[in-house]
Formats: sequence, structure tokens, C-alpha cells
Amino acid sequence: MNVKNCASCHTLFFNPIRSQILCPQCKEDEEINLGKVHTFLNNHQDASLLDVVMETGISESQIRRYIEEGRIDTTSFTGLELNCQICGLPIKTGNRCSRCSDELKKEFQIAYLNLSRKDSNNKL
Ligand SMILES: [Zn+2]
Ligand SMILES: [Zn+2]
Repeated sequence: MNVKNCASCHTLFFNPIRSQILCPQCKEDEEINLGKVHTFLNNHQDASLLDVVMETGISESQIRRYIEEGRIDTTSFTGLELNCQICGLPIKTGNRCSRCSDELKKEFQIAYLNLSRKDSNNKL
């Protein structure tokens, strides 16, 4: 059955393309919402996320989802504050600050070294 619960309003809708998560009505709303965000950002490039929420009436989680899906251009959203998922530091793009990315890389290298060391111990 190609019927699905809408991720936003939870009504059942016919879903021939299974990747679709929103019902036609919510999808239309989403396009309108995105239009509002884009229009607002064009005129207020230094707006914060809160400004966008206040001005467009769209919830913060919704806007964050648009950003994650790449539907809002974060380079034209200079007042946007994303936070590092690890330390919570404000960042401009992605989901980790450069320090935490470096830390992760280091940890990965150490883990890798330990692994290869164990390997060579086993061989001895
Ligand atoms: Zn819906
Ligand atoms: Zn961080």
C-alpha cells in the first residue's frame, strides 16, 4: 500500500514515491514557508535564526531542517548561528567546529595506530 502518514500533520496520504514524507498540502505549505524565509533573508542578511522564526512564523526546528536539507543557503544567512554538536560552540557551516573536527581526526588516528599496533603484537 502506497499510503503514508504525513511527517508534519500526520494525515494519511497517497504516496507513490516512497521518499515523500509530506502530504501534498504540507508540501505546498513548505514551499510557501521556504519562499517566506528566502524573501526575508534577501532583505535581512544579518538576521539571526530567532529573527527568521519571529518574522516568518515558522518554527525553529522546521527552519533547522531546511538548513540541514540544504534548502536554505547558509552563506546568505550571515546572522545564522549553528552550534557544534560536540562542544556547542557557534559555527558557520557543517555540524562540528574546526577544533572538534581536529580532535575527532586525532582520536581516529590514535585508534587506528592502536589497532595496527595490536595487529603487529599478535603477529609476534
Ligand atoms: Zn501533512
Ligand atoms: Zn566543537
